[in-house]
Parts: sequence; C-alpha cells; structure tokens
Amino acid sequence: MGVVPEMIEIEQYRQVADLAVGHTINRVDAPDPWYLKGGTTAEQLTTMLGAQVTGTRRIGKLLLLDTDGPTLGLRFGMTGRLVVDGYAPIERLQYASHRDDPAWVRFALGFDDLGDLRMVDPRRLGGVALDPDEHHLGVDALAVRPAQLRQLLARSRAPVKAFLLDQGRLAGVGNLIADEALWRAGIDPARAANSLDANEARRLHRHLLATITGLTERGGSHTGDLMPARTRGATCPKDGAPLLRRTIGGRTTYSCPQHQR
Ligand SMILES: [Zn+2]
Repeated sequence: MGVVPEMIEIEQYRQVADLAVGHTINRVDAPDPWYLKGGTTAEQLTTMLGAQVTGTRRIGKLLLLDTDGPTLGLRFGMTGRLVVDGYAPIERLQYASHRDDPAWVRFALGFDDLGDLRMVDPRRLGGVALDPDEHHLGVDALAVRPAQLRQLLARSRAPVKAFLLDQGRLAGVGNLIADEALWRAGIDPARAANSLDANEARRLHRHLLATITGLTERGGSHTGDLMPARTRGATCPKDGAPLLRRTIGGRTTYSCPQHQR
C-alpha cells in the first residue's frame, strides 16, 4: 500500500523545502496554467524572481514558502511530490506512478547555489498560489490544544469524521488519520461532533496527536494499525468484530461497531 500525502507527508516536504532557505530565486517555471490557483498568473509569479527564501511553514496540508517578497503556497492533492535539489522525501505515492515523466513537473523554482524545487504531480490535483489565504484554514491538528478541540467539537453538528476532515475547523487531518484516530479513541465516526462529552473530546485529542506523531515515526499516514483492515470483509484488529464500511464526510470510512461508540 502506498502513500497519500497527508499532513505527515507535507511536513516531510516542508523539511526538504527548508534546503531553499537563504537562497535567492532566479527562475520560475509555471508551464501549466491549471496548476496556478487563487487567481495567480504566471506573470505575477515573476515577482518572485530575485526574492530570497526566508523560511517555510505548514498549516495542515498547505506548505508555505516565505520570502522577502511574496509568500508562495503549495498544495499537493493526492499525487503531488516535492523534489528539492534532487532529493525526494517520498519516492512513491499510492495513486501515482513513480515514473518521473518531465511532463509531470507542474511547477519549479530555480535558486542560486542550489538545485531546483519541483512539484511533480501526474494527476494535477495540487497547485500553487501567491500569498494564499491562510485564514480560511483551521488550527493545525498538531497544534490544537485539548480545550480548543473541545470547543470546536461543540460548535459542529457534523459527524465527527466529517468534522475532522473539515480543513476550516482543523487543518491537516486526512481520511486515513481520521479513521485511525477515531478507531484508537473508540469513537463512532458517524456521531455528531457536538455529542462528544468532555472525556471523549480529551480522548480524541490524545489519540489524534498520538496517531499523527506515531505514524510520522513509522514512516507515513499509511502505517496505521487499522490500515491492513481497510478492505471489504476485514475484521477489527482490536477485537475481531467485522468492520463497518460507510461513506461519511464524502469519504470511505472504516470503523468497528463493537468498540467504537
Ligand atoms: Zn473493534
């Protein structure tokens, strides 16, 4: 089973993007207008020429490249990979071929004294934007505090699974991390977010953080304990009950009817 870029993978991308900090941008390649988002044009992107990269940030699944000029936002969709100076933190993604077809380079930046930064995206589900709106994103899932999560949950009537996937409330959680955290926390993904009591909200917070950090150590969002059971007819790795497979929040959701309540 391959990797889908969730926040764990974007954090790995951020770390290689850090190679560009301190370097000056001397080339912008934006061959694919479809890949430019939020009204950004190839002409506007030339304002990045001569700018020095000052830092990188990540909010959820959005990677930000700050410069002494504009900020660049990079999104990777389901199949986007980042390659910086020839170094690719993730060689292979689940929904993408690992062939490196030059036509799949949707965007690139060249630097003084460094190889280029490339976004390789066979399915073009990602994109880049100048000075992207960061305020529509919720708090990053690794930074959310227990009381904050509880308040956010209390304000949503959506199923808790859909709540977790809503990037405007909590940024960074994708399908696999959401199912894994709810499975570990013993919470039914179909329950209304605002039906969780204080103990359940705390438990979800604890398991969400443990899932993100634990799966990061194991090597990616596809390494969860529930992952091998994400298949029709599989049983719960905890208690052997036949798993439920439903669509919640628009995504295929696996859960255990026995221990997730
Ligand atoms: Zn179970």
